[in-house]
Amino acid sequence: MSETTDAADAADAASAEASSQGLLGRYRDALLGVFGTPQRVLVRGSGATVVDADGGEYLDLLAGIAVNALGHAHPRVTAAIGEQVATLGHISNLFTSPSQVALAETLLRLSASPEGSKVFFTNSGTESNEAAFKLARRHGGAARPRIIALDDSFHGRTMGALAMTGKPAQREPFEPMPAGVEHVPAGDVEALRAAVDETVAAVVVEPIQGEAGVRAMPEGYLAAVRAITREAGALMIVDEVQTGVGRTGAWFASAGVDPDAVTLAKGLGGGFPIGALITRGEEVSALLAAGQHGTTFGGNPPATAAALATIAGIEEEGLLAHVRAVGETLAAALAAVDGVAEVRGAGLLLGVELQPDAQRAPAAGLAPAVVAAALEAGFIINATGPTTLRLAPPLNIAEEQVLRFVEALPALLAAAKEN
Ligand SMILES: *Cc1c(COP(=O)(O)O)cnc(C)c1O
Repeated sequence: MSETTDAADAADAASAEASSQGLLGRYRDALLGVFGTPQRVLVRGSGATVVDADGGEYLDLLAGIAVNALGHAHPRVTAAIGEQVATLGHISNLFTSPSQVALAETLLRLSASPEGSKVFFTNSGTESNEAAFKLARRHGGAARPRIIALDDSFHGRTMGALAMTGKPAQREPFEPMPAGVEHVPAGDVEALRAAVDETVAAVVVEPIQGEAGVRAMPEGYLAAVRAITREAGALMIVDEVQTGVGRTGAWFASAGVDPDAVTLAKGLGGGFPIGALITRGEEVSALLAAGQHGTTFGGNPPATAAALATIAGIEEEGLLAHVRAVGETLAAALAAVDGVAEVRGAGLLLGVELQPDAQRAPAAGLAPAVVAAALEAGFIINATGPTTLRLAPPLNIAEEQVLRFVEALPALLAAAKEN
């Protein structure tokens, strides 16, 4: 074999290894199988568009699962991260930074938190909820051993957050769970009232259960949770990891409810990993004292700079109103599509319930096949269950872009039925 052929063969082999098929094979050999097989290998993105390793383009209507608030590679966010990393990257929490202080103040302002409220930064939703779990343990001590969470809820994958998660199938392989967590039916005021007394440290709720199929709590439920917890002296913890930071068209889906603690993550950093626990009021903020909790990475300068840039983008680009307007248009257009039974959610967090497919058993719904057909047609969405699609696009997505998906949906439903 000549040298040039060797070089060409090596180049071919290298490009095969860098192709989607090559990379997915290497993925299977190198990565733990907890996510199954990834749907595509993505190499770059801009706005609401991402591109895969074979050059295929997709309209991203999922935004990294409600994360990329300003879309992909927003210049505001990339500049903030780039400048921060080039100036000062990691420092540990033995030190603080201007962006960390500014972000904490910003979150307290946006959450209309009372005097004495505080922020603890984390790197993820589950860590925010772990911090909330420890906060609850510190409230009432041995006299309040119980924490009440809701059926079908999702709070994360680490042990404390998992204990609060209301899906037995996710908890059972990892039992025994941290003690004291009980689940009651979601949205049922009387069930909650019956469960909550002076032995309860906290009640934890999502305003909209995202992973359970984008199911909003009924009107008045959060206010009832507030009244019941207040009467029993228990904390009300709201998990806004998915609903917070503008996703529903408000900074917080629980605005006006006055909870004791709020957890955030997903959209906060515009794609950079960061989460937060907001403790509201002086008394609650005093529950975790010096040395009782901590983190190495949490609240580092690049993450807090990314979050400040994301929040500034949402404010200065008027995205809360945009999310409400585009969300309403999108929800109405989806509801009018033949084969759609119901559209749930708020703002740009929407669940699309599909009509049952007569050809399938109810447990084998159409939604996963629609997700696959959508991907083939250049749309990224996901299914939270056999019959429910979830859309959570970038907050700055154009109306024209979301309507492109609505136009394609009848053909995607038809394609899914053939599979
Ligand atoms: C995604 C999510 C979490 C977990 O966040 P991670 O960053 O994946 O740990 C917790 N609560 C809710 C409501 C979520 O949607």
